Amino acid sequence: MIYFTDTHTHLYLEEFDIDRQEVVEKCLEFGVNKLILPCVDETSILPLQQMLHDYPDICHGAMGLHPTSVDNNYEKQLEVIHKELIDNAKDYIAIGEIGMDLYWDKTYRQQQEIVLREQFDWAVALNMPVIIHCRNAEEEIINIVGDAKYRDLRGVFHCWSGNMEQTERILEMDFYIGIGGTVTYKNSKLPEILLQVPTNRILLETDSPYLSPMPYRGKRNDSGNIIIIAQKISEIKKMALKELSEQIKINVKRLFGI
Ligand SMILES: [Zn+2]
Repeated sequence: MIYFTDTHTHLYLEEFDIDRQEVVEKCLEFGVNKLILPCVDETSILPLQQMLHDYPDICHGAMGLHPTSVDNNYEKQLEVIHKELIDNAKDYIAIGEIGMDLYWDKTYRQQQEIVLREQFDWAVALNMPVIIHCRNAEEEIINIVGDAKYRDLRGVFHCWSGNMEQTERILEMDFYIGIGGTVTYKNSKLPEILLQVPTNRILLETDSPYLSPMPYRGKRNDSGNIIIIAQKISEIKKMALKELSEQIKINVKRLFGI
């Protein structure tokens, strides 16, 4: 059996309330035997905790405040997230998802940066990896990660969509690149970029329920679809699926310790 980890999935969201058990069984059937569940905001905590409780051998948590949930109330939200991170420290293997998103709305740009830096500080203090959400903010985030005080920071840029030059910069900073369903989209630049990314820096993810790979684009995504993404990457890298699985297992262990 070939095994894969979905390093970024929101199976705790209500989109899966009707069939969560079936979805988890489907994952196991497909060899997707580890799931990393990143938090979005304080409303994620209870359902995320429920999944950690129901599937302790499969699910691992990440705790953080997502940039699109940042507004003027960010201090209060950070307090709740930090309390959960400390109170249930054993449940969390990473800080995430955190980052900046300037795609839809730049109103809280400054607040997003403050919140990101605050959570980077937690990651350094707790020696935990970060799961970074980066949308239309590649330059901003790469500059912050480059700050001398974050030289020991490690993590992954989830659902990476930067250009080649930006990709090289994050590889130089020893970060990982999270690849999801967008790699299967017709106009994706990712296949070309992936040719320049060593396999020991790639992680697989679905970002379920979003970003379904082809041919399911537009439908609800689930972590079983990791296999489609893995197949696409094995074609791009001209590598057997088994070999890819072995390398990615090492990557997951090195970054997340699972
Ligand atoms: Zn996500």
